[in-house]
Amino acid sequence: MIDLRSDTVTRPTEAMRAAMARADVGDDVWRDDPTVVAFEAEVAERAGMAAGLFVPSGTQGNLTALLAHCQRGEAFIAGQSSHIYRDEGGGAAALGSIQAQPIAHQVDGTLDLGAIEGAIVGEDIHHTRTRLLALENTYNGKVMPAAWQADATALARRHGLATHLDGARLFNASVATGRSLAALCKGFDSVSLCFSKGLGAPVGSVLIGDAGFIQRARRWRKTLGGGMRQVGILAAGCRHALEHHVERLAEDHHSARRLSEGLAGIDEVEVKACDTNMVFIALPRDHCQALEAFMASRGILLAAGPRTRLVTHLDVGEDDIESVVAAFKTYFSQV
Ligand SMILES: *Cc1c(COP(=O)(O)O)cnc(C)c1O
Repeated sequence: MIDLRSDTVTRPTEAMRAAMARADVGDDVWRDDPTVVAFEAEVAERAGMAAGLFVPSGTQGNLTALLAHCQRGEAFIAGQSSHIYRDEGGGAAALGSIQAQPIAHQVDGTLDLGAIEGAIVGEDIHHTRTRLLALENTYNGKVMPAAWQADATALARRHGLATHLDGARLFNASVATGRSLAALCKGFDSVSLCFSKGLGAPVGSVLIGDAGFIQRARRWRKTLGGGMRQVGILAAGCRHALEHHVERLAEDHHSARRLSEGLAGIDEVEVKACDTNMVFIALPRDHCQALEAFMASRGILLAAGPRTRLVTHLDVGEDDIESVVAAFKTYFSQV
């Protein structure tokens, strides 16, 4: 199977499974799991932050951060199509009594600084007090421009807002730009990093920030049911990914580039964007279903729609990309 639907579909490698099986463990609710404690510290140090908190999912990392930054009745600003606003089951509202103030994205995925500033409301008792600016990097595969990151986080600070970064794919941004993880985390009070996307671990994210923030987050993680016991088994898989699967993200970026070039040669396919490990294409609407079925019959999984996202990852090789391009060509040569 060549599964291009997402980079969440990766399976742990044999070496990762071996590292997980070997992990030293203890009860992590009591901070007794040496593998988790060491991994949290290692990730925090690499990101230039003081402390880390291991959580089962990126969604829980983001929600924990929202709860640790905002009180009930307060608000956070985020992109209209950002994951933290649109793709996390409304957790901020459902579980935190926290209100979102969504802002439309610009073409490059950023938010207009004037629009952010205009959305911030404060001390008037009529207003929902804005407490947090939440950004995302990468966003639809796009790397956040460094200057915009600096300006947006400075703007937030000037207005007394905290800043959170959803860095589910921040390692992709780091490898794509050569900027260090610490540089990409600069200006943010908290960052959530995922190890279960292109890095290939089965489970695990780490929320990082200063010691006081992580202490509050640890309490909220327990409230959310995220206090786990001998979870070093999972952290060991993530640690293996950190050690062995970061630099290789460059191969995924190369594969995405190659895929977009191959598909650009087909008349019926319009390549809309190609950034880091994601390719977005537009397909003729009346072909989506048939194309998806044709691909599935050849062992290629994709979610075809008018706007189709193809994602490269650890379990998609260079030969696979050639097979996918060839299958697209075959399909459109027959219709
Ligand atoms: C995947 C993802 C998350 C976290 O999602 P989970 O499925 O909970 O791990 C958060 N933000 C972005 C941008 C993501 O792609």
